[in-house]
Amino acid sequence: MELKLSEEQRMIIHNVRRFVREEIVPLERDLDPDAFELPAREQERLTAMVKAMGLYQMGIPKRYGGPGVDMITRTLAAEEMSQHRAGLYHPSYDVFGEEPPPPLFEATDYQRERYLLPLIRGEKRVFIGVTEPSGGSDPARAIQTKAVRDGDDWVINGSKMFNSWADRADFGLVFVRTNPKAGRQGISCFLVDTDTPGFVVKRLVHVLRSDYTTELAFEDMRVPATHLLGEEGQGFAIVNEWLTANRIPYSAVGIGVAVAAQKMAIEYAKHRETFGDVLANRQAIQWMLVDNELDIRTSRWLVLHAAQKADEGKPFRFEAAAAKVFATEAAGRVVDRSMQVHGGIGVTKDLPLERWYRELRIRRIGEGPSEVQRIIMARDLLSAAATSDLDSLI
Ligand SMILES: Cc1cc2nc3c(=O)[nH]c(=O)nc-3n(C[C@H](O)[C@H](O)[C@H](O)COP(=O)(O)OP(=O)(O)OC[C@H]3O[C@@H](n4cnc5c(N)ncnc54)[C@H](O)[C@@H]3O)c2cc1C
Repeated sequence: MELKLSEEQRMIIHNVRRFVREEIVPLERDLDPDAFELPAREQERLTAMVKAMGLYQMGIPKRYGGPGVDMITRTLAAEEMSQHRAGLYHPSYDVFGEEPPPPLFEATDYQRERYLLPLIRGEKRVFIGVTEPSGGSDPARAIQTKAVRDGDDWVINGSKMFNSWADRADFGLVFVRTNPKAGRQGISCFLVDTDTPGFVVKRLVHVLRSDYTTELAFEDMRVPATHLLGEEGQGFAIVNEWLTANRIPYSAVGIGVAVAAQKMAIEYAKHRETFGDVLANRQAIQWMLVDNELDIRTSRWLVLHAAQKADEGKPFRFEAAAAKVFATEAAGRVVDRSMQVHGGIGVTKDLPLERWYRELRIRRIGEGPSEVQRIIMARDLLSAAATSDLDSLI
């Protein structure tokens, strides 16, 4: 595998890096350590700057008026966007735009007008409703929320759990069971406006992360049949494909945080003195820094490999799962070691390490837990869909 970046790719990465260092990091000095949103004025100002730089919504295809930036560049840019305190869950406070869920690009004309285009313009926000109180790692079996056809509508009853942003979103992609006898082929996806009667935010669910999630209930919620995304029974395929692709940027963001933690650890070790010498001269500390670097570099290559396969239109399910498991677990180790190098100051809210440490723990559960990624990889290895031969690289 060869990574030769074009001048344009370098420029994008360089511009994102400069923007984060000059605009985002200084702003955080005045924000609460647990802030996950910018004041509206700053949000607007920085979003306008990103738009002027031509870097807003980088992944939007050119046919929708976006820059159509490739996955490798977006992966490297994501690494830069996340190098600040809130960066793991809110890279650059989303001023680079929230990428629309890819299934919306295949939506009907009506759905594109109503949902996709406003998302692209940054006028609407979306949430994802897969997980239910009955479980999230095996949605094909766990989804119990039911939709029953009634004339031109579907009537939805049930509940969802852990839905990030559902209380602040304009609509959601909600996955429900339309045929109780058809297993994974019995799941369909609906576009649901959050102001629909019967859509209830039951409670806010507080987690390790600085922002919260929600629990939702659907009580005889009527959704027009025109809001079915894709075909009836295609919901599982839609969510599977989408989550697989999302694992690449998801993993890259964690690497960004690890890179930032490693830089902090190196800087601190060079200046902090104990027992008459700086920490950097202690082999125990040097090994931690080296282990950090091994974790970061291995993660980066795994994530880039998945991104390259995605760009080439090749299957990348195994590569995305490998990247997700390794990069999320490795980033946790890197931040943990970097905290150890810092001693007591490392666990204070004066530094971003404690927030990264907490929030990274969720990354081994969210978007398909580590165990599920290992199940995906094991299936591919046992069915010979994946191999350790060099063929896996080419
Ligand atoms: C902060 C946060 C934000 C989230 N945001 C969203 C969101 O926006 N939308 C949404 O739909 N969901 C969201 N989720 C839900 C998340 O996707 C699920 O928590 C995740 O998929 C795991 O599902 P579960 O919690 O029900 O665990 P379960 O499915 O109950 O699994 C429990 C544990 O067992 C492990 N396990 C399961 N099966 C096996 C097996 N066969 N072998 C070995 N181990 C196994 C799992 O890996 C997991 O660790 C969010 C979760 C969190 C914590």
